[in-house]
Amino acid sequence: MLTVFGSTALDTIRTPSKVLKDVLGGAATFAGISASFFVDTGLIAVVGSDFPKKYHDILGKYLDLQGFVIQKGKTFRYDGSYDQTLSTRTTNKTELNVLGTFKPEVPDSYKKSEFVYLANNDPDQNSSLIREFDNIKFSMCDTIEFWISTKRNSVIKMIKNVDAVVINDEEAKLLTKEHNLIKCAKKMMSWGAKYIIIKKGEHGSLLFFDDVIFPSVAFSLEDIIDPTGAGDSFAGAMIGYLASKKSTSLSDIKKSVIYGNVMGSFAVERFGPDGLLNTNKKKIETRIQQYQKMIDF
Ligand code: AMP
Repeated sequence: MLTVFGSTALDTIRTPSKVLKDVLGGAATFAGISASFFVDTGLIAVVGSDFPKKYHDILGKYLDLQGFVIQKGKTFRYDGSYDQTLSTRTTNKTELNVLGTFKPEVPDSYKKSEFVYLANNDPDQNSSLIREFDNIKFSMCDTIEFWISTKRNSVIKMIKNVDAVVINDEEAKLLTKEHNLIKCAKKMMSWGAKYIIIKKGEHGSLLFFDDVIFPSVAFSLEDIIDPTGAGDSFAGAMIGYLASKKSTSLSDIKKSVIYGNVMGSFAVERFGPDGLLNTNKKKIETRIQQYQKMIDF
């Protein structure tokens, strides 16, 4: 089993073609749904009493919700705008709301999870939650500019406590204060994580382990609708695939990155979580085969 902890949100997403208000989002939402195509996944997250039932039902369809808490107050909200190219996003507002005071607990049935993903979330909450698991084989975390700017030391502490970090290129540079991605990865490894995966949006990703560098391309798409959650879907697929194989071998970690690229490509094809909700195991395997063909020479 896999446990995913992180934000569940109501997002306002402003793209050049459409503005979506209070749509289902959150790092743990995308990561958890993406992972659920590979393995049974439990979600630990908090929402407020304003969280719509239809979104709760969607989460329940894909995820075990024993760790999902509805607290009095407002759900975490994120507001972001994309430019014409859809490759740059500006954060307009981050409202922590119930996330700010959440005291997460790991349900007893999740404590034996060997795979744990700490999705983008308060790094202090992430670091204290991971201590509650009995038998972790592989843990991974992500972070975002908001936490790097407000709690950089806590982000570094969180990195000490996990096996792998998945982070986008701009955030890796901001966090490590380096410009070169190899230097960024080496610095994060010196803080304690063994594997570093730097995502480069439409340009794919770089996996680092010891002195190994494994670059991978993104699945090429002509039409991108909404990139929100692509990174979370990438990470969820990675750890979901590894949990399904119960493996942490380098060769499976490389394969998991390819599943990450493919799940990220589904996420960007529709607004909000619809890209993920519209896929299935068969479509995923077909796209993996297309990916294989694409990079073969
Ligand atoms: P991504 O596009 O992969 O970077 O992820 C976007 C998702 O992360 C959105 O659905 C947001 O709700 C969520 N998010 C944005 N900022 C934060 C934050 N500071 N903490 C936790 N989750 C966040």
